[in-house]
Amino acid sequence: MKKTTGTDRSITSKWRPATRAIRGGTWRSEHGETSEALFLTSGYTYDDAATVAARFAGDEQGMTYSRLQNPTVAMLEERIALLEGAEACRAQASGMAAMTAALLCQLSAGDHCVSARAAFGSCRWLVDELLPRFRIETTVIDSADNDAWETAIRPNTKVFFFETPANPTLDIVDLKHVCDLAKSHGITTVVDNAFATAALQRPLEFGADVVAYSATKLMDGQGRVLAGAVCGTEKFINETLLPFQRNTGPNLAPFNAWVVLKGLETLSLRAHKQSENALALGKFMEGRVPQMLHPGLPSHPQHNLAMSQMDACGPIFSFVVDGGRKQAHAILDALQLVDISNNIGDARSLMCHPASTTHAGMTEQARQEMGVVEGMLRINVGLEDIEDLKEDIDEALKAAGLES
Ligand SMILES: *Cc1c(COP(=O)(O)O)cnc(C)c1O
Repeated sequence: MKKTTGTDRSITSKWRPATRAIRGGTWRSEHGETSEALFLTSGYTYDDAATVAARFAGDEQGMTYSRLQNPTVAMLEERIALLEGAEACRAQASGMAAMTAALLCQLSAGDHCVSARAAFGSCRWLVDELLPRFRIETTVIDSADNDAWETAIRPNTKVFFFETPANPTLDIVDLKHVCDLAKSHGITTVVDNAFATAALQRPLEFGADVVAYSATKLMDGQGRVLAGAVCGTEKFINETLLPFQRNTGPNLAPFNAWVVLKGLETLSLRAHKQSENALALGKFMEGRVPQMLHPGLPSHPQHNLAMSQMDACGPIFSFVVDGGRKQAHAILDALQLVDISNNIGDARSLMCHPASTTHAGMTEQARQEMGVVEGMLRINVGLEDIEDLKEDIDEALKAAGLES
């Protein structure tokens, strides 16, 4: 393997984001391929016994086993780190593998974790079910309330865990305030940045410690593979995350890493164009449906905060109809172009009913507290022509009894 400029931080740190997305992390084999090579290998061979001994001792750089390193995965990790502005990144098998690793690698029995109430269903399961099994205390709060974060702090609070914007309520966390508060108490912030990605929001710039990802969503961007990532300081990644990851094995397959690596090349273009479409569709629907949950619209109670920490509103928003599950399902069933799908971040427009899908595993009461009501629908706005999307939504709303 030949080191290229993409692997040299003294060079890449001067590159602007668009250049990092295309060339960051690139590491070429002796063939000089333009597109990154896919290394489907679990193991490595060595010229002699002394070499392998030196690598295992850490005296010599080089690959030893793909649970520890793989060239294709390493390229993805470096590219994500560069986009995030992070010292280091480790790819994970999925978004949930990333969240699990980011929490379990640093929490122990007796520690306390404060988490946002509005969150992806499986993230809430980690906090509500998994952590308490290991005697890690958890408190779930209204993450949009700055005071609630402070009130929840205990002497043993070690981690703040939240997503912003949150899935599917689009609640926004005040990144600067909450990260500053955490810092002043020696608490580590773990931010799930799946809805925005580094193309639209970089939590480290606001003082976050760890950024964790479902790369399945906008980073892949074409609905192909599951993937995840955890970004942070070299010290956190190498000393806290890596011992956990190397010995428990939630690794990303090289093929999936390669797919996401190519997705990153168009991430910024897609994230901005999808945000533009989501804003146009939101404006089109506002007034037509009883409630919009859209960070890009001034009607969102945290619109100004959202726009002060995001470069654009992102492709995802939710809305609520008065007729409960029946009317929400009627809208889904009337769609001709937009697909019924619980995935997000895809170049295709997708709509889902969170209460009966992504958040079906929670109790009715927990859903109510989070605001995931029966009349809520969530849409991921894709790259189709906005006029076709407006026509499809217009017809579906009409079919469900919502006249223009
Ligand atoms: C999808 C999602 C996850 C989980 O990611 P997977 O790749 O599906 O495991 C976690 N957090 C948020 C906010 C998500 O949208």
